[in-house]
Amino acid sequence: MQRVHIVGAGISGLACAVRLSSEGHDVILYEGAGHAGGRCRSYHDDHLDCTIDNGNHLLLSGNTGVQEYLALIDAEAELTGPDRAVFPFVDLAFNLKWTVEIDDSWWPGWILDRNRRIPGTGIWDYFKSARLMIASEKDVLQDVIDTDTNLFRRFIEPLTVGVLNTPAESGSAALLAKVIRKTFIRGARACRPRIARHGLSQTFVDPALRYLEYRDARFEPNRRLRNITTVGQRAVALAFADGEQTIDAGDMVVLALPAQAVGTLLPAIDPPSEFHPIVNAHFRVDDPPEVPEQAGLIGIVGGTAQWVFFRDNIISVTVSAADELAQQSNESIANAIWRDLRAAICGLPKEPPYRHRVIKERRATFSQTPRSIRHRAQCRCGFDNIFLAGDWVDTGFPATIEGSIRSGFEAARVIAAVNS
Ligand SMILES: Cc1cc2nc3c(=O)[nH]c(=O)nc-3n(C[C@H](O)[C@H](O)[C@H](O)COP(=O)(O)OP(=O)(O)OC[C@H]3O[C@@H](n4cnc5c(N)ncnc54)[C@H](O)[C@@H]3O)c2cc1C
Repeated sequence: MQRVHIVGAGISGLACAVRLSSEGHDVILYEGAGHAGGRCRSYHDDHLDCTIDNGNHLLLSGNTGVQEYLALIDAEAELTGPDRAVFPFVDLAFNLKWTVEIDDSWWPGWILDRNRRIPGTGIWDYFKSARLMIASEKDVLQDVIDTDTNLFRRFIEPLTVGVLNTPAESGSAALLAKVIRKTFIRGARACRPRIARHGLSQTFVDPALRYLEYRDARFEPNRRLRNITTVGQRAVALAFADGEQTIDAGDMVVLALPAQAVGTLLPAIDPPSEFHPIVNAHFRVDDPPEVPEQAGLIGIVGGTAQWVFFRDNIISVTVSAADELAQQSNESIANAIWRDLRAAICGLPKEPPYRHRVIKERRATFSQTPRSIRHRAQCRCGFDNIFLAGDWVDTGFPATIEGSIRSGFEAARVIAAVNS
């Protein structure tokens, strides 16, 4: 029987494997690490004495690829978030707090109401920012948006840095516009914040592995791909660190690997080579603070911290595009972020709790500038039986969970089409 060999069990590889298995394909999923999940996983942290995520992941209810994937693996109930599209913010530099609430309808009535607008913004700021929606692929954000406004500093910038993991001014305007079109423009139903209720692995990884087992797909961890033997335009063998796997005639290979790994394995591919780190700090507190607006998160402007997430007695902070911050020691990062938390949330003690953990993901995602985006590869990459998936592959979506799932589904679609 024809087989699909998928290498890389991050979200892209899992999505591809799940989709193909659901359609009756014979699938083997190989993973270099001892566990699946890649950049989107949970683990038990001994110092914190609890399970945490490698990084907080924020999703939006309009992520339809995510919904489809979770429905396939029967894990829809694992995503949680408020019933309303609320985004509480604090501006530390001006000691201001406000909440952006997106209306149910597509019509953004909230921007007409002075009391609901972001502080220091006028209605024209919003209308002018609509130029974003006609941005070309060459535009960076500051080509189409006035970056010297409160609307930019207090909403567009935190949103952009969070979505693109790229400094807001240089981020791809077209990529951000794509996300806004799929979410905020559709009203509250498509932009409610969503987070993994019990953790990333319990939501995106473990149910997928259970599904694959149920479908008789094989998952092989600790199998690092070192080399691909090709004859003409066909892969004929995969050389793993622990032995070779022959690729029979009719078999297909999906590389669901990070950009740099594919660049090494297939030198003809010239993937994006610029990346940005994301820093996460997790604090275990004895007395969890009250969560504002039941949103489960706060956006912070004017400090080091950017997005704060609350889960049980863990307060977790994300800083994206954290190139400079990632150079600092973990202690100095924890202190700077804790200072911001104390300024934003009442009742926290002066010193950071003893139980805290700083995680630096140095190559969290590729840099999503127009220049870098030109290096995104296509799923069909010039070989007859090798296909690409991954958050850096050209889906038209940013490098996020949604983008990864879409790339995995696309590889599955192309393979099914080739097979038929
Ligand atoms: C800290 C952080 C925060 C983030 N926040 C968000 C967020 O808020 N919202 C959001 O939507 N997205 C977020 N993302 C992005 C999201 O996590 C990624 O886009 C997604 O996980 C990428 O999945 P992937 O499968 O494409 O790649 P990966 O997760 O990198 O998977 C690739 C897999 O291949 C394996 N591998 C590598 N080399 C080999 C080899 N030679 N042989 C075999 N296996 C190999 C790796 O071990 C890995 O498991 C965040 C990412 C990070 C790091």
